[in-house]
Amino acid sequence: MNLIDKLENQERLNFDDGVKLYELDFFILAKYAKKAREKRWGNRVFFNSNRHLNPTNVCKDVCKFCAFSASRKNKNQYSYTHEEMMRIVDEAYKNAAQEIHIVSAHNANMSLEWYFDIFKAIKAKYPSLHVKALTAAEVNFLAREHKLSYDEILNKMIEYGVDSMPGGGAEIFDEKVREYICNGKVKSNEWLEIHELWHKKGRFSNATMLFGHVEKIEHRIDHMLQLRDLQDKTGGFNAFIPLVYQRENNYLKVEKFLGAKEILQTYAISRLMLDNILHIKAYWATSTMNLAMLAQEFGADDMDGTIGKESIQSAAGADSKRGKELQDFIDIIITSGFAPVLRDSMYNELKIFN
Ligand code: SF4
Repeated sequence: MNLIDKLENQERLNFDDGVKLYELDFFILAKYAKKAREKRWGNRVFFNSNRHLNPTNVCKDVCKFCAFSASRKNKNQYSYTHEEMMRIVDEAYKNAAQEIHIVSAHNANMSLEWYFDIFKAIKAKYPSLHVKALTAAEVNFLAREHKLSYDEILNKMIEYGVDSMPGGGAEIFDEKVREYICNGKVKSNEWLEIHELWHKKGRFSNATMLFGHVEKIEHRIDHMLQLRDLQDKTGGFNAFIPLVYQRENNYLKVEKFLGAKEILQTYAISRLMLDNILHIKAYWATSTMNLAMLAQEFGADDMDGTIGKESIQSAAGADSKRGKELQDFIDIIITSGFAPVLRDSMYNELKIFN
């Protein structure tokens, strides 16, 4: 069966199909990706009210693409106390955040308690707040640093109140590319193993892919297929988030940066390849608000959320130092002809705006 027939019949696509999708006419690709998103979500666009919290930028690892880590170009080291973290959470709660998204660098000077006690403290004070915390890269780092198994770390996350895991640290699964861009960090099979274990505990997570640096199209398709295989087994991924590579203040030499066309193609191809992951998120912090909105015409159905303050992507040049207001999402989604849906972290619909 040729590719167009497969798309017409909504057949599962293989590796070669994925590569060929990049050669397909841009608007034909958009048509099929939009059809696939409309089948699931109609004209709804999801977003949430969340707050990002990055408790430390001191890192043992040396990813070439990273501008956040203090041990590289950024000399302004910081590590928050729990009191400082809680002040941020208090403010977020006051501003109606439903989720705290906590991602740290790999700080070997900090104890396991420093990493974990804050989760318990947040849940004790605000039981309704969803705590999304610890990427698989952090789980791997903490397990190695404290000589614990993944299982022990994941059980501790549950015990201390972590509700779901963010999708960071996946970068690109191809081990050669990985060795070049983030040598020493969690390996792809370990990233997948950690998420599988988490899912088997009845918990949910997201999955990311960092694209637009030195990877090839084939690596992106391979990345998506490895996630699709795991999702077939566990069903534990809520959303796939293609992250556009940010170019400033880092050590990764990239010759050609992606334009809007290839970014939109990648969202569309993600929607078509990942037939078993319900949500494709165009994270506005790495793609800009306008492109994240346009991505909704190319298969995405989610724009992430207000985020409050973001330190990781903005250190590398993204326009996300300050978050957005809920009204910003409502306005841009309505004027683009879609229906804004405020969701919680598990994609329960809280409010539909008309
Ligand atoms: S991406 Fe994360 S693990 Fe890598 S250097 Fe930056 S903070 Fe450390």
